[in-house]
Amino acid sequence: MAATINRRCFNRLLAGAAAGMSFLDLKRALADTAKPAKIPLIMLDAGHGGVDPGAIGLAGTYEKDISLPTVMEVARQLAATNRFQIRFTRKDDEFIPLPDRVTRARAAGADLFLSVHADALPNRAERGASVYTLSEQASDREAAALAARENKADLVAGLDLSQNDPEVSGILIDLARRQTNNLSIQLAQDLVGELGRHVPMLTNSHRSAGFAVLKAPDIPSVLLESGYLSNERDEQLLRRPEYRAKLVAALARAIEEFLVRPQRMRRS
Ligand code: ZN
Repeated sequence: MAATINRRCFNRLLAGAAAGMSFLDLKRALADTAKPAKIPLIMLDAGHGGVDPGAIGLAGTYEKDISLPTVMEVARQLAATNRFQIRFTRKDDEFIPLPDRVTRARAAGADLFLSVHADALPNRAERGASVYTLSEQASDREAAALAARENKADLVAGLDLSQNDPEVSGILIDLARRQTNNLSIQLAQDLVGELGRHVPMLTNSHRSAGFAVLKAPDIPSVLLESGYLSNERDEQLLRRPEYRAKLVAALARAIEEFLVRPQRMRRS
């Protein structure tokens, strides 16, 4: 078969192998996906929700009430470009377990996953935006503690696709993970670069931690901490729609640049 294996083909094959599909079924899946690329689909994930308020600010602001309008603003600005499809893990004040957020992104065939948060830190002086990518062994302690807090939001263990799969799908998943991880890091660097020109940033603003929502092996995924509700100034700013719009404008520019850059998402 003289088909070019693009990223979608690869992902379809990966999913098929993980589900134990036969060689013939995999071949059929490959034929189905050797078509022109679709419009990139962005899965937006508003952190926390429902019974899980997330962090609670000094003035009583709930993290879940900052993450949702921020995500809606991201959607509004990205939709205005007419270049992307947008989906949400939640559009209301609803509790969604962390693995379900990843499952929804994979089921939708997302090309990018963005989770939005606004946590609290023990040190009230710390402030500014930061972007996280996945690290199984979170390098810095603070990042690990933060990931532990976010992961505690539900009782189900993180997604582990490789657990009961044969050796081959394990290798495929490893390959995909590596490729995805590189893309996630590139995206995070783009985001940090663009955000840093417009809003206050945390020191070492690109960090890595073991966030459960970043575990899709085949979707570049990043988590934005838009600021810290434990900081008085950040809390005031994050409550303001104008500030969120400014932050999101930088975010949306970086995402657009990342997704339309030809050597990245559209081919592999
Ligand atoms: Zn959070």
